[in-house]
Amino acid sequence: MKIGVLALQGAFARHAAVLSAVGAAPLEVRHAGDLAQVDALVVPGGESTTMSMLLEASGLREPLEERLAGGLAVLGTCAGMILLAAEVLDGRLDQRPLGAIDLGVRRNGYGRQVDSFETEVAVEEIGAPFHGVFIRAPLVERVGPGVEVLAEVDGHAVLCREGNVLVSSFHPELAGDDRIHRWFVESAAAGPDPVPEG
Ligand code: GLN
Repeated sequence: MKIGVLALQGAFARHAAVLSAVGAAPLEVRHAGDLAQVDALVVPGGESTTMSMLLEASGLREPLEERLAGGLAVLGTCAGMILLAAEVLDGRLDQRPLGAIDLGVRRNGYGRQVDSFETEVAVEEIGAPFHGVFIRAPLVERVGPGVEVLAEVDGHAVLCREGNVLVSSFHPELAGDDRIHRWFVESAAAGPDPVPEG
């Protein structure tokens, strides 16, 4: 599996390292030609306002929207969750989310007191709890009806999936634990769940 890591800005290098560790071939994606080569994509943490601008400037927004509409498997972490969401609160006015997962998220929504924190996150899909590193994380305030909440912290969704789109408000690439990346790569390789007949 060739897994792209959007490399316009932010925490892409650590994602690429974890992807290599789980046996995938990471490719840094900066241009449409890179995107065309990948089987799945990671949208990393960083600064979602900057990444949103760079998506336009690099000409990647439109091809990325097309790949997402075509069912591209994608993992978005932190700022990546913000970029992939349907709705962004406290974003910049010119920030345009991709609308790939029906979530309403508030940028830096955990507030100043708990700006950044770490906590164990129970994720049924991968067994034992996962160490969640939250850095100026988005707070999920609205979950659309088609979205599965896979983990919560204090009553707020922190790991969600809709179709082939998986997003976390924490940074799995910083946990020293490759289970979420491994699971993402395995699910992407398996393809989308079959549509039930009937
Ligand atoms: N607060 C950042 C933003 O709004 C996200 C932080 C992160 O990705 N660690 O994009």
